Parts: sequence; structure tokens; C-alpha cells
Amino acid sequence: MATMTKRDYYEILGVAKSATYEEIKKTFRNTARKLHPDNKESGDEAAFKELAEAYEVLSDTGKRAQYDRYGHAGVKGAGQSFDNVDFSNFAGFGMDDIIDMFFGGGARGQARRGGPEQGANLKFDLQIEFLEGVFGVEKKITIKRLEDCEGCTGTGAEPGSETTTCVTCAGQGQVQQVMNSFFGQSMRVIECPACQGSGKKIEKPCKTCRGEGQQRKTREFDIKVPQGIETGVRLRLTNAGDKGRRGGPYGDLYVIIHVKEHKSFIREGETIHLRQPVGVSLASLGGEMMVETVDGKKPLKIPAGTQSGATLILKESGVPRFNSPSARRGDQVVHLAVETPTKLSAEEKSLLEQLAQLRGESLVIPEAEKEAYEAAQALLHASSKDSKNGSDKDKKGAKSKTKHKDEQVKEDSSILDKLGEFFRPKNGEHEDE
Ligand code: ZN
Repeated sequence: MATMTKRDYYEILGVAKSATYEEIKKTFRNTARKLHPDNKESGDEAAFKELAEAYEVLSDTGKRAQYDRYGHAGVKGAGQSFDNVDFSNFAGFGMDDIIDMFFGGGARGQARRGGPEQGANLKFDLQIEFLEGVFGVEKKITIKRLEDCEGCTGTGAEPGSETTTCVTCAGQGQVQQVMNSFFGQSMRVIECPACQGSGKKIEKPCKTCRGEGQQRKTREFDIKVPQGIETGVRLRLTNAGDKGRRGGPYGDLYVIIHVKEHKSFIREGETIHLRQPVGVSLASLGGEMMVETVDGKKPLKIPAGTQSGATLILKESGVPRFNSPSARRGDQVVHLAVETPTKLSAEEKSLLEQLAQLRGESLVIPEAEKEAYEAAQALLHASSKDSKNGSDKDKKGAKSKTKHKDEQVKEDSSILDKLGEFFRPKNGEHEDE
């Protein structure tokens, strides 16, 4: 399969996006004559095949609608491949015969344009709130879709006007054509050129739909979004798409879900993650607090000596399983972030100093230690002013970095890596330099 980028079908045909079927057909025939390999002056087989493929899609209401909405992906595999067709084998046939052979006549073309057509599928992007994605929600969505014209109930004829049987095909929608060719005479069935296969002749086209038989209508649909849904899930509403032409069935409507992010919660499948700040006193002494969950606030016990980065689990406070109401719900993981107090009052300051004293935490480097360090530094400078100094420092730096990395690995679960900045210590107290 060729992987080169496909050109836009409208561009290939050289018609506007709004072009009618008749315009498309006419333009195709003119261009096809120019590009056909039999044409000695301007024939181009590759371009002709590209043109044929574009025409096959754009001349079919259903395929064209799919192409308009989804581009080449929407009609992938729908069109026949012209890559293996050798058009030069049709010597002796008229150009129109060849075109009809592929598009106008034959069982395929007749079934496509003569009878009812399948309505196109539609797509709707639905954005929902985070909690709506967790618990499910009922929504009303408004779409525009093709329906049978109310003026003419889909016939395309002005009410009260006459619709007669097409005289060319006697209402059959197809006619037999005799072909004289190099190989002799042959008969084949083609779509009736007078009525485009409908078998009827409309005397007065309906004013409401200009004879199209269809109108775009605004419709509202109720949609039930199930619990536990995630972004990207497609919900299908059968028969909510476009109505098919000539009494054909409705297509479907695909609702694509987009779940908004939450200001506090991060969702990972059925698990909810929450960053919970904890005061240094509560973290040290232990106790309890209320924490936010998708169900509202719930009590949580904080063990004494809680470290920053510790996680606590609130069982079954996460996301219900998608489409299985009886299944066990996910959990909420509470990531505790011990917060160092800032902006201390005089009293708090004195209490903390008292605490430091009680715990034997020195707030300054003891005088003796400082002197020893300075003496060592002086000695180092005096003895060797070479590169050894620098390399020692490097080694020291590398060592302490490695150590910090180990600590981080121990603290962080994989989700923390994924969440990045969100849970990382805010004031960079673990960072070197
Ligand atoms: Zn109408």
C-alpha cells in the first residue's frame, strides 16, 4: 500500500465543496476525457485513476457525506481500487462507455442510485465535567441532521403536483444499452439517464427542498453517559444520524466523550489521586482530618510521624467501573505533602526554637565544627592548587546527587513520575546547589 498523502477529492476533481451531483458528473466527464490513457495528447494514467477514485466517492451521497466529515479515513476501503485496472484495454469503446461501465451502469451503480440509500453516520463531540465522567450523567445534545422533507415527505415533488412514471425507462430506473465495440455487439444495463434511476419524473420540484427530498433539521437527543467513562470513548446512538435518501434507513450518531480535568483530582483509570497538604504538627503527632473525595469530604486518619510523600488509601472512594455497576469501585490515593510553616508569629517562633532545643537540633553549625572545616580548607589551598581540588568537589557532588535519587525512587510510585510537577516538593528543599 502506498503511504503517500492523499490529495483532497474535491481538489482532484476541481469542484467546490458545495458542488451538486450534476456538476461533479459533468466536471468528471470533461476531465476524464482529457486524462484518459487513450488520449494521445493529454492522457495520464496515474492522474486518471486518481480522478476515478475521487469521482467514485463524491458521486455517491453516502460516501461523500462520510468523506466530508472524516476525510479519507471516512471512506477508507469503501472505494474500489483503480490501481490494478488497465484502462488501455478498453480500446474501441467510447469514453462515455468506459465511464458508465465503472460508475453509471452495472448492478453496483444501479443499486446505489436507484433504490433507498443508507443515511450517513454523524459525529458529535461531548464535553463533560470530571465528576460527570466518574458517576455518569444524562445529557441533551442538539445536532443538525438530514431528514425527509416535510413539504413533500421525501418524494421531492411539490405536494399536489404530478409525479409521472419516467417514459425513458418505463419506471424501471434502468435501461438497456447496445454497445458496438471492437469485440462485437453487447448489451448492458445502465442507470436511466432521464430520471437518474428513480423511475419517476417529477413535474414540479418541491419548493421546500428544491426537489432534493431532504432537509437539514435541528434535533435534540437524550444521551445517557455511563459511569466510569473516559475521554475518547464513543457512544453510539442508533438511527440518530442522517436519514437515507429515497426512504433509506437512518445512519447512526457517534458521541465522542471528552472529560474535563479537575482542579484537585487526577484520575488514573479507576483510581483517584489527590495531593493533600498536612501541617507539620499533625504530621508529627498524628490525628485525623477531612479530605476531599469524589463523594464529598471523608475523614482520614493521619499516623504519627507521617513523612512528606507518604500515601494513604481511601478504599472504594475512586471511580466506579465503566458499564459494570456491581463491580468494586476504585480507590482514592491520598498523597500527603507535609508543609513547613511560613510567616511565623513571635510565639510560634519561640515554640519552635524551644522544640529545637528539646530535640537537640542545632540551628547553627557548632563553633568547633566550623573551625575544623575552615582549617581543612586552608590546608587544601596551601598544599595543592591543582585540579585535585576540583575533582574532589565533583565526586562529592555526584555522590550526594545519587543519594537523593535513591530516596526519590523509594518515595515515588510510577504515578508520581507521571504526574510530574504536581506532587514534587514545591520549594525545592531536596535539590542540590
Ligand atoms: Zn420537499
